[in-house]
Amino acid sequence: MQLFAIFGDPVAHSRSPLMHNSVFKNLNYKACYTRVHLLDGSKLREVFLSLSLSGANITVPHKEEAFKACDEVRGFAKNVGVVNTIINENGRLIGYNTDADGFMYAIKEFGDIQNVLIIGAGGTAKALASKFLQKNIKVHLLNRSEKSLEYFKDKVSTCQTWDTFVVREYDLVVNTTSAGLKEDIYPCPLPLLENILENTSYVADAIYGKVTPFLKLAQSKNITFKDGADMLLGQGVLANELFVNHTLKLEDIKSCMQKSFEL
Ligand code: NDP
Repeated sequence: MQLFAIFGDPVAHSRSPLMHNSVFKNLNYKACYTRVHLLDGSKLREVFLSLSLSGANITVPHKEEAFKACDEVRGFAKNVGVVNTIINENGRLIGYNTDADGFMYAIKEFGDIQNVLIIGAGGTAKALASKFLQKNIKVHLLNRSEKSLEYFKDKVSTCQTWDTFVVREYDLVVNTTSAGLKEDIYPCPLPLLENILENTSYVADAIYGKVTPFLKLAQSKNITFKDGADMLLGQGVLANELFVNHTLKLEDIKSCMQKSFEL
């Protein structure tokens, strides 16, 4: 029996155990998926190995520590330095990032997106910004603090803090901050957010399982919006495919995971 886990802080809210266990159970794959509340990200490798895990997902705020914990990082995760999936390959930890493709899957229904504002500058913002840039989508960044913007400065069209931000027109505004996850707060000051939402066609939040204050504001302005549930599904399907080493069909994984959202 293989054991998988999700590491995070907080982690109690995570739907990943339900999603992955639903696949393992319904497709008769001998594995179990649990959650680990990890306060200190630098302990990730040690805890992963002590639990003899076959693989893991990593959520807020440890995705950059997860990159450092790996022996090798493959694919898109290498560009961004952010890992959300780790596979134990004969004792070597191999890192991947499935968040960005999960998000692209989620926003397909918004059609042609050319111009995006990302609020937040953490791991998820890095992954999404890199994927958007790969697809020649123009990226603007807004973050609470200056320090986290460093990474983006020579990559995106504009990146600013709340004090210096100048609002433009966007096709899509995405909240990648954890504001709204635990507490009901906005990802930036309300007058600025009001102005931003008046200048966008679509809104998305990476947070799932609740209508955050950010999404409620979008809803009150009749803007088409979505929470992070489809992103969660998209990244989960791709992570599970790695967990089972491609021995299950992607369509079967997706269908089991989708059903787990009804539980
Ligand atoms: P990080 O910890 O790497 O980054 C957090 C970001 O949020 C930073 O930019 C930080 O700003 C900002 N922030 C934190 N608190 C506040 C606040 N009170 N007000 C304004 N900004 C704030 O987190 P991740 O990128 O890993 O995750 C971010 C969110 O995305 C989480 O809620 C996570 O659950 C969600 N997520 C959902 C996924 C899904 O599948 N649906 C997948 C991945 C993530 P600063 O730089 O100033 O500290």
